[in-house]
Amino acid sequence: ADPILSVDDLSVAFETYEGRHHVLNGVDLTVDEGETVALVGETGCGKSVTAKSIMGTLPRPPGEITSGSIGYDGTDLLADPDAHERVQGEEMSMIFQDPMTYLSPVYPVGSMMADVASYSGGKSVSWLGVLKNMLGRRTNRSEIRERSIELLDRMRIPDPEGTLDRYPVELSGGMRQRVIVAMALINDPTFLIADEPTTALDVTVQDQILGLLRERVEERNLSMLYITHNLGVAREIADRICIMYAGEIVEVGTTEEIFDAPLHPYTRGLLDSIPKLTGFEGDGIDGQIPDYTDPPTGCRFHPRCPAAMAGTCDVEPVESHAVGDDRAVACHLYEDGMSFGEAATIAAE
Ligand code: SF4
Ligand code: MG
Repeated sequence: ADPILSVDDLSVAFETYEGRHHVLNGVDLTVDEGETVALVGETGCGKSVTAKSIMGTLPRPPGEITSGSIGYDGTDLLADPDAHERVQGEEMSMIFQDPMTYLSPVYPVGSMMADVASYSGGKSVSWLGVLKNMLGRRTNRSEIRERSIELLDRMRIPDPEGTLDRYPVELSGGMRQRVIVAMALINDPTFLIADEPTTALDVTVQDQILGLLRERVEERNLSMLYITHNLGVAREIADRICIMYAGEIVEVGTTEEIFDAPLHPYTRGLLDSIPKLTGFEGDGIDGQIPDYTDPPTGCRFHPRCPAAMAGTCDVEPVESHAVGDDRAVACHLYEDGMSFGEAATIAAE
């Protein structure tokens, strides 16, 4: 069967006073029906930009989609804005990290503005837009109320009816996020995009929310794109994992494959930085995400890559290579179908 979502060669640039930021570069991504795919990478790697492009909430300008297509259930959403609007909030729904932050009076304006200024901040505007869209389609007030109570109950919120009358600031972070999940489910979507919905929560609450999401996914055969910087979370929720670095997908594999046999040096670095028993979240990779106004030539990861081959990695653009059925890796080490062991030996020479 065709995937329900198929992102093909998506490139996005941002125009700012500092120059043109080439944020996404040829992103390919698919989600099958009933499948949960995790998009994993560091903060600033382009995960949210990918999500917003799919949802149609990318602020344009300053954002600009410079190439690619986003196929959803047989329609190219980029070529047909009407279709995009139609699916938004109805068939496709989105859960943000903590959208209530933007609606809450207890946060200083400065921090909200700072958030809006960094382009992930398009969030506040887009969230309200999506919400209005969702609610606008539910004209029957008592029906909305009933559905809301039912969903809050499904999200194991005590006193769902009373909760309807409380302000977000009166709820704990975990309860707030449950409300958000309930809101995202209110139109019974077939496709869900979750952008780091559990990041601000403690581990216990995070596990509960992941559990509730998983439950819903199975119950309704939902398809989901789950965005996170945390590979541990991805392992809990996803069937398949796409690793993103600096606006490019560098590796794709089933969750087992990514954990049992990571191929890309970046994936290996990420795995090394999974919090161990100490709870310390170390950064397994030196350096930081590159400047998008002038991304590194060749492989975007080469300035940080322990296996980089001078004369190749800093010069030759990388393409994604299929490795087996469901796997792909974008790294010069695997160009001739080499194993990591063989590749590592060559890289070490
Ligand atoms: Fe490292 Fe080269 Fe592979 Fe890039 S292409 S990840 S620099 S080995
Ligand atoms: Mg983000």
